[in-house]
Amino acid sequence: MTKGAFRALYQYPLMKKVFLSFLLILLPCLAACAPQGGKVSASLFAMDTYMQLDIYGSQTDLDAAEAEIQRLDRLFSSTAPESDISRINNAGTAVIDDDTLGLLSRSLELCEMTDGYLDITVYPIVERWGFISKNYSVPERGELESLLKNVDYKRVSLNSAEILPEGFKLDLGAVAKGYTADKLKGLLKSRGVGSAVLNLGGSVLAYGKKPNGEDWRVGITDPADTEKYMGVIACSDKTVVTSGDYERYFERDGKRYCHIIDPKTGYPADNGITSVTVVSDDGTKNDALSTALFVMGADKAREFIAADGSFDCVILTADKKAYITEGLTDSFTLSNTEYETAVIRG
Ligand code: ADP
Ligand code: MG
Repeated sequence: MTKGAFRALYQYPLMKKVFLSFLLILLPCLAACAPQGGKVSASLFAMDTYMQLDIYGSQTDLDAAEAEIQRLDRLFSSTAPESDISRINNAGTAVIDDDTLGLLSRSLELCEMTDGYLDITVYPIVERWGFISKNYSVPERGELESLLKNVDYKRVSLNSAEILPEGFKLDLGAVAKGYTADKLKGLLKSRGVGSAVLNLGGSVLAYGKKPNGEDWRVGITDPADTEKYMGVIACSDKTVVTSGDYERYFERDGKRYCHIIDPKTGYPADNGITSVTVVSDDGTKNDALSTALFVMGADKAREFIAADGSFDCVILTADKKAYITEGLTDSFTLSNTEYETAVIRG
């Protein structure tokens, strides 16, 4: 149709009405559909780690998720001087946000559940090894013994005027990202988002399914070659949390000291485990357990897992064993066949 012919046709009143109605119907549809269905992504640094957010939703959904992460980081940080945790650590008590109180109370339950292998008062030890300042050094055993007098989650009291005794300090590093994953799940749900994958530096929220209806595929880093995955877990509506010896460590005299501490000895866990991945729909519990199981060592961890039965797990060891719970046998795919797999049965 030539320009002239189109102008001639358009001048017919009926055609004009049809064309306008068509535009009126089409435009709102385009406006409503475009931002909802598309993927919006962001990379950020928070909670001392790099995070990657991929949400099938709008830019406002993404902004809200980012703002929530920053808000929780400001509450839970052990190093930011104005955080709820720093204010408790400095003064023994403080007026704190409901989220901080909620996470502290849940963490104390998880310390109890893991028989103190998770201990949120381990901060003085973490600090002494240099994991806060990055000024690392190996302490004398006697020094650790005296610091351990100020490590015991049972001495934290959320219901009295003094939350912490003198010399005690809290560290939510082992649970903060899992809790954040749980909060983000609630946020996405309340905003009507159906599909997202949020990697909070080793804590992955696989929310809903992929837009094409398939499961998300979450890679498990190979601790022996952190550029590669040793395997992949297919899942939906789950949080997958890994604690690995490669996340933060230093080396002295050929020995690796990692940031996961045995609260009973004051030394970094050194029992042959190189990573623990925990899978369930409870991110806070997964984060707590990935740290605690790492400290327990493979034998005790396998007993704990079999007795509990409420979560799935992959434990990797330096001698390339992969212990996998029965619940993951269908969804786990081994990528690195140097690993010898064994099933943990309940
Ligand atoms: P990541 O932070 O690398 O994901 P984790 O969830 O295992 O790893 O948390 C490790 C952090 O938790 C350490 O950096 C330290 O601050 C703290 N931490 C170390 N050991 C323990 C422990 N046994 N119980 C509680 N917190 C711990
Ligand atoms: Mg953890």
